[in-house]
Amino acid sequence: MEKKFCTAVVLAAGQGKRMGTKVAKQYLEIHGRPLLYYTLRAFEESPLIDSIVLVVGDAGQISYCKNEIIDVYHFKKVGTITIGGKERYDSVFRALSVIAEKMSGTAREGYVFIHDGARPFVTQEILQRCLEAAAANEACVAAMPVKDTIKIADGEGFAQSTPRRDLLWTVQTPQTFSFSLIYQAYCKMAAQRERLEKSGIQITDDAMVVETFTDRKVKLVEGSYENIKVTTPDDLKLAEVFLRG
Ligand code: C5P
Repeated sequence: MEKKFCTAVVLAAGQGKRMGTKVAKQYLEIHGRPLLYYTLRAFEESPLIDSIVLVVGDAGQISYCKNEIIDVYHFKKVGTITIGGKERYDSVFRALSVIAEKMSGTAREGYVFIHDGARPFVTQEILQRCLEAAAANEACVAAMPVKDTIKIADGEGFAQSTPRRDLLWTVQTPQTFSFSLIYQAYCKMAAQRERLEKSGIQITDDAMVVETFTDRKVKLVEGSYENIKVTTPDDLKLAEVFLRG
């Protein structure tokens, strides 16, 4: 397989309201290091990744990431730190625009791994599987089969229906795409942003943007049950256990 340029977009611009702490979840410390350190380390150490675009919440977080993470741990691949937007998809679009406007032609001809900063347990094996699937299909997401039965609720707290469990997957990140495909899809979405907001449809991941604005099918790639997004205090406890392991 010809090696193409791979950029990781690491998203750390969320407020992490569900954690209930003043500090956003991606900056909380586990074993004395901010969660975002572990996430960035996975991409820094991957021979597949050539460059990292980090998206943070404000100028203060830019300084924090530079001084307390990148400099301290000698991370070399973070080429750009940019400030994100209101919604996750705004933050992703900012990062993709940085690649389109500031990075080389090789970056624009390569792949982009979009990853939640709050998912520190992404492994080298997952990155490898994502790259292989992106090379074959142009679009893929890490995902795992659901273990629980899932119900669709009727809005009043009653079960309305029960989808077939064998077709249900819980979706993670990285979500990996050829840059041209994902940038094109996001540009189309940006052009219709107002309509989208009015429609009440919530865009919660990047695959949805590809599904909605292109004809391309998104391949599901095996992630891992440990590749959790640290969202609530319970997750933080789990993260400590995983790290100890
Ligand atoms: O809010 P959610 O849990 O879906 O966020 C997933 C990831 O996206 C987190 O790492 C968060 O920091 C990031 N995010 C972002 N910009 C936003 C909202 C979320 O970078 N506006």
